[in-house]
Amino acid sequence: MKMQICKNQVGCDFYGCKNVAKYSFSTKGFIRKDLVFCEDCMKKMFECFSKQCVPKAVESPFKNKKSKKEIL
Ligand SMILES: [Zn+2]
Repeated sequence: MKMQICKNQVGCDFYGCKNVAKYSFSTKGFIRKDLVFCEDCMKKMFECFSKQCVPKAVESPFKNKKSKKEIL
């Protein structure tokens, strides 16, 4: 996924928003055209994301899975 600064003067894709889009988000064919949105909507979207993706308690990514082969 790739987010870029929107170079075209297009309206924000969010419903009810009349701002000019500032960012474009390439969906790589998920929907045909890139999703474009303004700074306000980006912030709102980010708020939503951060609410949904509550950071989990940090667990050690390194599990002690080393099986030591004991050479007898
Ligand atoms: Zn907007």
